[in-house]
Amino acid sequence: MDMALSKQDLDVRARARELTEKFLYPVEEELDEHDHLAAEKERVIHDAVIDYRLNAINHAPEHGGQGMTIVQQCIVNEEVGKSTGALWGRVWQPPMCLKDGSREQIEKYLIPACKGDLNTAFCTSEPGAGSDAGGVRTNAVLDGNHYVINGEKCFASSSEYADLALLTTIVDDDPKKPTLFLIDKGTAGYNIRRLPRFSQRSGHGHPEVDIENMRVPASQILGEVGQGFELTKDWFVEARLAIAARSIGMAVRATELANGWANERQQFGRKIIEFQAIEFMIAETASDIMAGKSMLYRVAAEIDAGLERKRAHAKASAIKLFCSEAGWRAVDKAVQIFGGRGTMCENPVERLYRDVRLERIWEGTSEIQKVVIGGQIRKRGLDMYLGWD
Ligand SMILES: Cc1cc2nc3c(=O)[nH]c(=O)nc-3n(C[C@H](O)[C@H](O)[C@H](O)COP(=O)(O)OP(=O)(O)OC[C@H]3O[C@@H](n4cnc5c(N)ncnc54)[C@H](O)[C@@H]3O)c2cc1C
Repeated sequence: MDMALSKQDLDVRARARELTEKFLYPVEEELDEHDHLAAEKERVIHDAVIDYRLNAINHAPEHGGQGMTIVQQCIVNEEVGKSTGALWGRVWQPPMCLKDGSREQIEKYLIPACKGDLNTAFCTSEPGAGSDAGGVRTNAVLDGNHYVINGEKCFASSSEYADLALLTTIVDDDPKKPTLFLIDKGTAGYNIRRLPRFSQRSGHGHPEVDIENMRVPASQILGEVGQGFELTKDWFVEARLAIAARSIGMAVRATELANGWANERQQFGRKIIEFQAIEFMIAETASDIMAGKSMLYRVAAEIDAGLERKRAHAKASAIKLFCSEAGWRAVDKAVQIFGGRGTMCENPVERLYRDVRLERIWEGTSEIQKVVIGGQIRKRGLDMYLGWD
């Protein structure tokens, strides 16, 4: 078994690491303090993403993406995930399912999105549909060659400024017809109701949206009526591995900082690393990171080698569960090792502490991942997770 990174993988890691350290770390405090970055700073980051060939790592070169393997995508997400305030989002990865659009939709949306000329938002969650995404009730009804859409959304990240919102609906009030619509910015009837504040200050919001008699041409459906969930299945694997990779990145950064501090800080006439209580925290975290990286990159390599979609989906849940929980444990310990200084906003571990908490919630909470894993064990047997083939 050869799990070594290839020359290309190492090159991808070097590029992602340099971009993160040179362009993302320097703006973290400003973003956290002001909850936005000056337009020229956003532009510098945007241009750097292109220069470093890190735009649309998840899309094919024919659409303007980097065509990276899943292993390479995880490497990039681990590196950019070390930055705070969701700056990793500045290294844009347009939703996978845009590749399933018509030729016109690919040209109008996917290609500019890969270039970084078009921002996207993905709006599924509703007041009554969180973990239970099947509970979506935003409804589309055909009227001539348009659909009229009514409903409401929440946690619709970035949709207050996005050029394109991918909107999850049902058609004819029928939950068996989940359908994705492509909504252009400025479409009448798409109204931001409220922009609540969140613990993470990333420069974009997670608005609540009222959708009132919004008329959308039938040609704005992505795929077909009823294909909504099918189109997002691959994206779930990608998003869960991305979260796992970011969580590992956060754990690595927090642990490096905490280890550095523990070797510097003196109390009772000794470096605090000499107290076993502190050294054991670092030891536990190092083991967690090693375990998380092992499962993440092993399954990423299996997916690259053609792992069946259902098995990839099942395994991605276990990886998301373990890595997001391990990331949380690692950052929490780093804060503890820093003592009071771990709670100062100027300390990256404090910001990581706010950021990493989210990773256990979005794209399926830890409890939902356990529901998925339990269901898979019932359906396919324990070997799915315990076996090695
Ligand atoms: C900052 C942020 C950004 C987001 N961005 C987006 C976005 O861009 N687009 C989008 O569509 N959504 C987005 N979300 C929504 C996110 O996906 C949901 O928050 C998540 O799916 C959980 O749903 P919920 O918050 O409604 O919690 P609920 O579903 O209400 O869950 C509450 C609690 O109940 C538990 N629970 C629920 N069902 C079960 C069960 N069957 N078994 C055991 N426990 C259960 C959960 O694990 C959780 O602990 C975002 C959320 C946040 C916080």
